[in-house]
Amino acid sequence: MNKGSRQVQYELMIGKEASTNIKKYRFGFLPIGCLEYHGEHLNMGHDSIKAHLICCQVANAIGGIVFPPHFYSGIHFLEDDDYNKYVVGLGNLYTDRSAESHLVEIIEQIAQIGIKALILYTGHYPPIQRKMTYDIADKFNSDPNSLVRIIPFNEADQLGHFGHATVFETSFMLYLDRAHTRMTHLDESTVNCDESTTPRNATGEKGAAYVAQIITRIREMLIRVEADLELISH
Ligand SMILES: [Zn+2]
Repeated sequence: MNKGSRQVQYELMIGKEASTNIKKYRFGFLPIGCLEYHGEHLNMGHDSIKAHLICCQVANAIGGIVFPPHFYSGIHFLEDDDYNKYVVGLGNLYTDRSAESHLVEIIEQIAQIGIKALILYTGHYPPIQRKMTYDIADKFNSDPNSLVRIIPFNEADQLGHFGHATVFETSFMLYLDRAHTRMTHLDESTVNCDESTTPRNATGEKGAAYVAQIITRIREMLIRVEADLELISH
């Protein structure tokens, strides 16, 4: 696995840099999420932006190619009251009807271009969204003709922490890119939190520790599929 800073973002690669990198690494990351209100201190795209920045850090540490963050791939299936509150009222955007089939099409093409293992990283992780990523993984991984192995990843299941705009999510962004936070506007009444989860206690140090754990975890997951796929030859 390669170390060091290099261009890891697929959309920024120029010319044959893209196909050369695909041949070299043969594994990649697809960060996904939705647009969703995250209190007064985090941005609407937090989940996908976080997932993308983390995937870039992982790729810089262990190799691989990071596909652009997909902001229209979050589902929630909200009931009427919540739909009115969060979608109509606060501007959340979900793609309940099309996210799964759209992601399957994207992944089929990513497989066609030569990616053998893909970390499907959802930064948005209500149970229904996690299930969707596991279902997508099953679809590809149980098909003997599939060209790609899918490794679903979310922080809730892998790190055992979760929380919407709480100390956990806020710490990530304080570490990853403080410019995407507005801590002076923090309003705890806009966050579903208690004393143990309040974003007031978020720090960049906590975020850095979480990201270090994620790098370790994804490295382990890739090593497990590496034997089957002869993925990492360098
Ligand atoms: Zn979030």
